[in-house]
Amino acid sequence: MDPFWALGHVFAALFGLIIGSFLNVCILRWPEDRSVIAPRSHCPRCGTTLGVADLVPVLSWVVLRGKCRHCEAPVSGQYALIELLGMFLSLLTFRRFVPTPHLLDLPHFAAWLVFYSFMCMLVIAIYVDIRHRIIPDEVTIYATPVAIGMMGTLEWLGYDGWGGIGLKQSLIGATVGGVGLAIAALVTAFLLRREGLGWGDVKLLGLIGAFVGPIPVIFAVLLLGSVLGSVTGLAHLAITRRRSLLPFGASLAPAAMLWVLYGDLFFPLFFPGLALRYGVG
Ligand SMILES: [Zn+2]
Repeated sequence: MDPFWALGHVFAALFGLIIGSFLNVCILRWPEDRSVIAPRSHCPRCGTTLGVADLVPVLSWVVLRGKCRHCEAPVSGQYALIELLGMFLSLLTFRRFVPTPHLLDLPHFAAWLVFYSFMCMLVIAIYVDIRHRIIPDEVTIYATPVAIGMMGTLEWLGYDGWGGIGLKQSLIGATVGGVGLAIAALVTAFLLRREGLGWGDVKLLGLIGAFVGPIPVIFAVLLLGSVLGSVTGLAHLAITRRRSLLPFGASLAPAAMLWVLYGDLFFPLFFPGLALRYGVG
């Protein structure tokens, strides 16, 4: 294995663990409108501020055997799981955007960072939507201009691989996703005389559009998201006999993840004969 490429994998894994530990803070604090920077993390039972040794991703949880160092209060395994998820998604995204050793250059490395940040926003959207039935503005409406800026930067760096849709397509995608779903929300609200789609979902599809562009956002993400939503909804109905469907946003987000990682594989299955015209690496 090429040594620099191997080093890239190690870096992606460690970076993913650190980001995963930051994701834990975001999914805990953003739904309550608390800052993710201050105050420092502390044990919810004894209130001791956690030090560096308590906060090493995964390792601290394993070494301390899932307990607070001071009062032995149990620490949820969810923290370590989210950290592992952060690492796993970082590696998958790295392999997607830096697929071969000779592509380990600045544009491809930047593309990995951009799309990994997208993955992290989607993880937060899924978790918070399922748990609290809201999607934080931090990963939708505030993140959308940042996303458009990042896509513009990739274009400026000369990135031409998978997902490199450029500034114009990013702008159109955000508009199509956001405005398109807003119209759908208004129409369903008028026809059903109740709110069918939440504004959080509308804002989330705007963000997804900014990252993937208008064509996947309409066809692939909406279609796949509806399929995922229906399948999990029916499974939930069969298991619990209750009709509590997965939130729509929490179905759109994994569809967008699948698009980023494997879009070129499943696009021809949905639309045989229709070629993806841009952003194919
Ligand atoms: Zn404690």
